[in-house]
Amino acid sequence: MDVREVVLLGSTGSIGTQTLDVVSRNRDRFAITALSAAGSRIDLLAQQVRDFSPKVVALPTSEAADALRKALGTDCPELSVGPDASTELAAADCDVVLNAITGAAGLRPTMATLARGTTLALANKESLVIGGRLVTSAAAPGQLVAVDSEHSAFAQALRAGRADEVRRLILTASGGPFRGRTADQLRDVTVAQALAHPNWSMGRVITINSSTLVNKGLELLEAHLLYDVALEDITVVVHPQSIVHSMVEYVDGSTIAQASPPDMRLPIGLALTWPDRLPDVAAPCSWTDPTSWTFEPLDNETFPAVDLARAAGAAAGTAPAVYNAANEAAVDAFCEGRIGFLDITATVRIVLDEHLAQTVDVKSTPGAAWIADGDLSIQAVLAADSWGRRRAEAITRKESE
Ligand code: NAD
Ligand code: MG
Repeated sequence: MDVREVVLLGSTGSIGTQTLDVVSRNRDRFAITALSAAGSRIDLLAQQVRDFSPKVVALPTSEAADALRKALGTDCPELSVGPDASTELAAADCDVVLNAITGAAGLRPTMATLARGTTLALANKESLVIGGRLVTSAAAPGQLVAVDSEHSAFAQALRAGRADEVRRLILTASGGPFRGRTADQLRDVTVAQALAHPNWSMGRVITINSSTLVNKGLELLEAHLLYDVALEDITVVVHPQSIVHSMVEYVDGSTIAQASPPDMRLPIGLALTWPDRLPDVAAPCSWTDPTSWTFEPLDNETFPAVDLARAAGAAAGTAPAVYNAANEAAVDAFCEGRIGFLDITATVRIVLDEHLAQTVDVKSTPGAAWIADGDLSIQAVLAADSWGRRRAEAITRKESE
């Protein structure tokens, strides 16, 4: 059995630490050749270096690098420092890059991994969503493997039939901590309440995104891009137990579901060895205790994020980048107490509408004008990303740009 060499980007986060947990229990299968992180948890990163002996560690700032050198002394491995350090790691020689960075910062590492020809285990859905066809067209068949639990479920269920036999994808959503509430009941919810996800323990941004359903909007676009299924053939269904991670409906009326208790180590392990399975990665469902799984439609009026994502995805081009960027800025504004919970998706709507409206004054500002798929470039995506961020920031500070 060959040892797979893994480069892990975003090692100190929720996905990063769970990836290292899978690796630590399969030392004969994997070697961690490099790690990257933003540097906010230096003690944890230093411990990871001691435990996994990577040859290189990438950090975006010299302050973070100095802190790691201080923590490790003479045991410090080679450091790669600077804003492009994760991207350089992604282009290094290895078997699989697992991109577990949060947000649009994951785009360049994703593109570098694909250009190098290495398998990309992708947790960073934002890079796929904002890069759109630029990312999918850079990927060879089978090169892009989803870590997101829903998309791992699709990949598994899609093995049950041919692509031309698929009628639709059913994307399950837990509904988040505010499932069942009316807009009125959401007006004054706090950051702490939004961070209390019922089923999953995740990073800050994805946890807030789960409470607004923006995460499901991003996942809708992710599924559309990964499996080339039309947006109108992807149905979102609320399944509060998070056991059925998603389903594929075939033309004959058969539906194939993937079920397991919520544990990201399962899709992480599968992405590291796809299409093979690792033994005993996570606990399976128990069938000895009475259990019920429930499904209900999504309340799109109270939670408009999925419909907004549909609009962004239908326009494609730079629109998904603006959807994501406006959301990232609005999440920061909410966490800093500048706006209320409902203002997150309201801000995304305003910024996306402005981008799609193609008004004259919008055209004079770099990144403001929508660019279609046919003219898309990384520069255009990044310009739209920074415009969307600035515009949302201005709205949440009630300034004009
Ligand atoms: P997190 O905030 O817990 O961790 C993010 C990691 O990225 C940290 O190690 C941080 O140091 C690092 N990082 C951030 N910016 C960086 C930069 N510019 N350069 C290098 N490293 C940087 O987030 P998370 O919950 O682990 O999520 C990571 C990604 O996986 C997100 O795209 C998220 O949507 C996706 N995802 C997460 C889960 C989950 O259960 N946590 C599930 C599905 C998908
Ligand atoms: Mg998911």
